Amino acid sequence: MILELDAVSAGYRRLEILHELTLGVQEGEIVSIIGANGAGKTTTLRAVAGLISTSKGSISFKGEPVHNTRPDKLVRSGLVHVSQDRALFGNLQVLENLTMGAYTQPRNTIASSLEQVFDLFPILKERRAQRADTMSGGQQQMLAIGRALMARPACLTLDEPSIGLAPNLVAQVLDAITRIRDTGVTVLIVEQNASQALAISDRAYVMESGAIVLEGTGSELADSAEVRKAYLGM
Ligand code: ATP
Repeated sequence: MILELDAVSAGYRRLEILHELTLGVQEGEIVSIIGANGAGKTTTLRAVAGLISTSKGSISFKGEPVHNTRPDKLVRSGLVHVSQDRALFGNLQVLENLTMGAYTQPRNTIASSLEQVFDLFPILKERRAQRADTMSGGQQQMLAIGRALMARPACLTLDEPSIGLAPNLVAQVLDAITRIRDTGVTVLIVEQNASQALAISDRAYVMESGAIVLEGTGSELADSAEVRKAYLGM
């Protein structure tokens, strides 16, 4: 496992949201976490990204304990998070946002990273001189993912990458995620859009009230009567 959460409890002040949550991601997989609003999916990624501290259990990345490690240190070790709000520098150009993503990288690697990102999202190349906050929602999501890739992650965590996007853009973003996985980057993704997430996932977890209640391959869960009823509206 490249990323492992073992009986992790975490939350906000005295409010515990994650209750001894256990899950793992193998190198080269896309793993998704699906579940209802408020289940704790975002909180899970925030704990992994070092944005909130854990009170119990352990998180390990490449075999090393990383819970309660500073976010920038995690980025340097190859664990890079894309938050739901994308956190772009709105007043900066697309190219400037991408370059900022490479702040942990040697300067002489930036050009080849940029080329890879532009291959994946040609629109970012076309719009490289445009201000980030004037891009559409889908383009901003591509930019947020592209900026994360500039840090050359071994593992990318994505919080609801399809939120607020038109259906054709959802398909484009999810397709890009599979191409990112195919380049060897491990992906952990949290999605409200369960059917689309399961379709691209090697494995997935269903989360309820701060714990995992089901796990399986993407297709096992997509076929499960319980998942179909509760999360796929069938
Ligand atoms: P959603 O898809 O709605 O974002 P989620 O599964 O990602 O749902 P979380 O955002 O992790 O769920 O929220 C889990 C619980 O934690 C919710 O009850 C939420 O109100 C609470 N919570 C989230 N952020 C905070 C915060 N900063 N302070 C206090 N409680 C919070």
